[in-house]
Amino acid sequence: MSERVHILDMTREELREQMAAWGEPTYRADQVRHWLLRELETDPARMTNLSASLRARLAAEATLNPLVLATETVSRDRMARKALFTLSDGQAIETVLMLYDRRRTLCISTQAGCGMGCPFCATGLSGFTRNLTPGEIVAQVLHYARWLHDPEAGGRDAAPVRRPTNVTNIVVMGMGEPFANYNATWQALRMLTDPQGFGLGARHVTLSTVGIVPGIERMAEEPLQIGLAVSLHAPTDELRNRLGPINRRYPIAQLLVACRHYVERTRRRISFEYALMGGINDDLIQARQLADLLDGLLCHVNLIPLNPVEGSPFQPSPPERTRDFVAELKRRGIPATLRLRRGIEIDAGCGQLRRRVRQELPLRAIRAGT
Ligand code: SAH
Ligand code: SF4
Repeated sequence: MSERVHILDMTREELREQMAAWGEPTYRADQVRHWLLRELETDPARMTNLSASLRARLAAEATLNPLVLATETVSRDRMARKALFTLSDGQAIETVLMLYDRRRTLCISTQAGCGMGCPFCATGLSGFTRNLTPGEIVAQVLHYARWLHDPEAGGRDAAPVRRPTNVTNIVVMGMGEPFANYNATWQALRMLTDPQGFGLGARHVTLSTVGIVPGIERMAEEPLQIGLAVSLHAPTDELRNRLGPINRRYPIAQLLVACRHYVERTRRRISFEYALMGGINDDLIQARQLADLLDGLLCHVNLIPLNPVEGSPFQPSPPERTRDFVAELKRRGIPATLRLRRGIEIDAGCGQLRRRVRQELPLRAIRAGT
């Protein structure tokens, strides 16, 4: 069985080398990238400006789209859609498209599973399988970009697109910890923000980390102006240790030093994610502790009502406690927003569709190719 080359996994330089190895002029690399990332084409037969020999080679020896759509769930208001994709080795990942606020925001995954073990998170409860490749990360965006251009085609084999994409925002908040797969994630983000690639402005991309300090330090040096979100969820080490083992490695004080350095270096505001859990982290005292912690830092707190996960004891905070918590933060001068529980009925929380499909569908349905 011959190994196919994965075109979306290649940098521009690597694709040039591949073209040379196939006896093609190196400018073909840019043409192929243009077809994949701008025209959103997946069928080499329609890449009309390539030589017939290159089209044949791409069809026979290359993979242009590493994802197979296994299931898609649509919210009742039809404003959120969640795709479950099967990868070539049978692993499953998910991607969510949200159509609220006149935005078309994609939430993408960087790993199959996650090894960080946060006990309130469906992905964390499922464990880690493997890192995604750059192409597997990019292809999630291309799938829904195709769908947005031609919903009838369902994201597959859409007719060639002659318009720029209209995905407006990307959040790296799906399955996995992006800083545990740093290089592939950034290679993907470079393709997605490259004006000659997918071409989305870096300011429209936000990456969320569980709080891996070396990752934050590294991101502070990146030239791309991608936004940073940090999942904080607790104002004290005692509590944060319970909400994720990562805090033992990078406790809050160390995390905030890295955050303050990041803001100084980039002059960009950090978002802190805080999932409100009833009786766990939603007390007014905790709101005050959080405000003290973030005092003077250029930041914004995103309060997320917890999306309850089967098999986890954590429950969402009741509405009045949530309201009081937000009000207290604001009173203390910390900019805070309560996010709505949108997409909840499609399990648009981290890793939740994958868990449900695993439980409810015959395994065959999601293990095609294994
Ligand atoms: N691993 C990264 C990014 C993926 S998780 C991180 O942890 O930041 C994206 C966000 O979803 C994180 O803020 C995470 O804490 C949050 N999250 C996970 N499970 C959740 C749940 N059940 N309800 C609400 N938010 C959840
Ligand atoms: Fe991993 Fe993020 Fe889920 Fe924690 S919250 S287990 S880091 S995906």
